[in-house]
Amino acid sequence: MTCFREEPKKAHFIIVPLPAQGHLIPMTDMGCLLAERGVCVSLVITRANADRIRPIMERAKESNISFEFIELSFPNEKFGLPPGCESIDHITDTGLFRAFFDAIYSLNEPLETFIESLERPPDCMITDMCNAWTAPVARKFGIPRVIFHGPSCFYISTDYNLVRHKVYDSVSNENEYVTVPNFPIKLQVTKAQTPGFLNSPRFEDFRKKSLEEELTADGVVINTFLELERPFIKNYERMIGKKVWTVGPFCLYNKDDEMKVSRGNKDAIDQRHRVLTWLDRREALSVLYISFGSIVYTNPQQLMEIGRALEASNKPFIWVMKKREMTPVVKKWLAEGFEERTKDRGLIIVGWAPQVVILSHPAVGGFMTHCGWNSLLEAISTGVPMITWPRIADQFVNENLVVDVLRIGISLGVKVPNFGIEHVIMVKSEEIRKAVDVLMDGIEADKRRQRSKDFSEKAKKAVEEGGSSYVNLTDFIHYFTEARSELAMPHANSIIAHNLLF
Ligand code: UDP
Repeated sequence: MTCFREEPKKAHFIIVPLPAQGHLIPMTDMGCLLAERGVCVSLVITRANADRIRPIMERAKESNISFEFIELSFPNEKFGLPPGCESIDHITDTGLFRAFFDAIYSLNEPLETFIESLERPPDCMITDMCNAWTAPVARKFGIPRVIFHGPSCFYISTDYNLVRHKVYDSVSNENEYVTVPNFPIKLQVTKAQTPGFLNSPRFEDFRKKSLEEELTADGVVINTFLELERPFIKNYERMIGKKVWTVGPFCLYNKDDEMKVSRGNKDAIDQRHRVLTWLDRREALSVLYISFGSIVYTNPQQLMEIGRALEASNKPFIWVMKKREMTPVVKKWLAEGFEERTKDRGLIIVGWAPQVVILSHPAVGGFMTHCGWNSLLEAISTGVPMITWPRIADQFVNENLVVDVLRIGISLGVKVPNFGIEHVIMVKSEEIRKAVDVLMDGIEADKRRQRSKDFSEKAKKAVEEGGSSYVNLTDFIHYFTEARSELAMPHANSIIAHNLLF
């Protein structure tokens, strides 16, 4: 496959993800997907992040698709960040979040240098909603810019309506429930659960820029599919007044285990054999998979509550724990009995797990999740019903979608955010055990599983040739290649939308 360097007329898209696993993973998938459809793709990435997913790059070369990394060095030292701290999941001290965003915002210069080195500017820049710093770069070179939203459209639309109607302006108690205005269904949320993107005093400038530049974008791409969230996609599209392309689920781009296992972090490659051998020995739909994504922690007391529930439920399980959760207390508790008592039916993975490989295996019958959008979409794509335990950000609203609208999950009833560093027990072992039983066994469980399977079929159809996401992706590519000259015009629609909002 030739690339834009050899054949300057070929379509060239540049992708700028936020360095966080929940953003980088889907945007990398999207890059490969676009490259497979004939676009030359440059993924802008920092060195440590590139190292994590180098096998993806190598595979792209083997399969002859035009997908390259533009590796930028991250200014850790300048912003007082520890060496190698280049992704949100690397941040162990929450006090460093501000410096991390300052460092990201300083990447405009090396990005401009890269663009200047090209014979002509790229046809399109796809940039994370959080990367508002890319907007002036795109304007400088006349590159049409599309924003990528990481969460569900259900959440994006909720947030947009709350902001637009200034709902929180009159809320003094952050745990008071408010109804989301102008929303297709009745949805109640609290400010604590859904504060909105970067809504804290230290991030006010980033928040303001992101909201403003959302409105100056030439369109939006979202990792979802029409058959899953139609009314909410239409709602957001109407509100934002621009084209919204739903082109997911991106995880389905990864067809075989080799592709699935190298997503996000090459460490999972070492786990593949162990995990598959273990799963192959289990009965169909018997295993519960437990993982809470890449960012939030679970404190030692809460980990032990989960452990007690798993022991009491007597079900086979795969449980992913983070390296930083391996405190001396937890290590001692595991070694002094838990691992021995559950060794015939439990597999603990410490570190990065091959999540999509696990969810795709026929032995897996349930998933206890923190409701990160990628994890939910991966479970939806593989037809696995869920126990929902939201912690932060978009996760409470995502839970509403999965539990109340799609009816493929059961809630543990957690209503208050918890990042995990707070040493409180959010859910008792008995409640977790009950939820595991309800999820895995009984007539209601069978019905829920059937609904999950139906959505998984719809997801697969959406990305197949002729499916809604496939067609949208074709339109998306066409829009930014054929309609290039028109897009160089000033952002008239965006200016009108901006006036409506602010
Ligand atoms: N993930 C993984 N292995 C792990 C933990 C996470 O592959 O051990 C992947 C998961 O499949 C998903 C992403 O990391 O694609 C996490 O994104 P999500 O939106 O679910 O949650 P976040 O990490 O952003 O909270």
